[in-house]
Amino acid sequence: MSADLHLHTSFSDGTYSPEELVGHAARLRFEVIALTDHDTLEGCARAAAACAAAGIRFVAGSELTAEFADSELHLLGYGLNTQDAPLLAALANFQSVRQNRIREMAARLQQLNVRIDGEAVLARANCRSPGRPHMARALVEAGVCSSPDEAFDRFLKRDRPAWVPKFRMTAENAIGLIHRAGGLAVLAHPGLNRVDPLIPTLVEHGLDGIECFHSRHSKSTSEHYLSIARQHGLLVTGGSDCHGMAKGTPLIGGVRLAMEHVEPFLAALAQPRTPSA
Ligand code: AMP
Ligand code: ZN
Ligand code: FE
Ligand code: FE
Repeated sequence: MSADLHLHTSFSDGTYSPEELVGHAARLRFEVIALTDHDTLEGCARAAAACAAAGIRFVAGSELTAEFADSELHLLGYGLNTQDAPLLAALANFQSVRQNRIREMAARLQQLNVRIDGEAVLARANCRSPGRPHMARALVEAGVCSSPDEAFDRFLKRDRPAWVPKFRMTAENAIGLIHRAGGLAVLAHPGLNRVDPLIPTLVEHGLDGIECFHSRHSKSTSEHYLSIARQHGLLVTGGSDCHGMAKGTPLIGGVRLAMEHVEPFLAALAQPRTPSA
């Protein structure tokens, strides 16, 4: 049994529909997958239906952006109640911030004499939760950059000229939001965010797990986080963070979370969780 617990669709900045994504998961013989689009649960119903038809166990999730001690970190919420009103209200707010951020990035690019129409980028993204990869694609299509990577390097990365900070909540609030919606909170790809010193405090705030396996974690990085997870008694998760073709090549299939980790994760999901106040 193996799982991929970190996947995106075109409901955020991936390129696959939920059905296409599940088709790839079935072809690659995954038994369990989780959908973790940024700041939205919209793809979950369709992914769940496609998984049911394919005999794949589906976990509803989302990837939230939080900040802590001036670092950006990503928190994965798993087993979320997709009808939870406070969660849906918070996500709607994050989505509107994302849409305005696209407009502001376009305005900054205009100031650099790079003509990008924010409304056109939003129309093309055709989702409520657009992100920088959509702007990167627009820059490539406009012939300004030769690849999405170049677009990030020249314009979109933190402290580059078109970088616009995103509304962020504290990690403590993000964990609370996930828990109140009945979910488990997992620290995403810690190897990309240099957040090690923050982990003990995240654990105090109720962190449930660490994404030890990720497409951009080396073997030694995974081992490092496995030992941190063990030390704090945390769940171990993993996923490819596949965005379809948005990152050049689809990453699904490159990370397989092994049964020894999938089983405790599913057992924790099945535990009734009393929402903390
Ligand atoms: P956002 O949520 O709008 O801040 O965008 C984050 C998305 O951009 C994530 O899916 C990242 O994988 C992607 N991303 C971040 N930095 C880069 C980069 N340097 N090159 C390509 N993609 C990136
Ligand atoms: Zn993304
Ligand atoms: Fe992330
Ligand atoms: Fe992701």
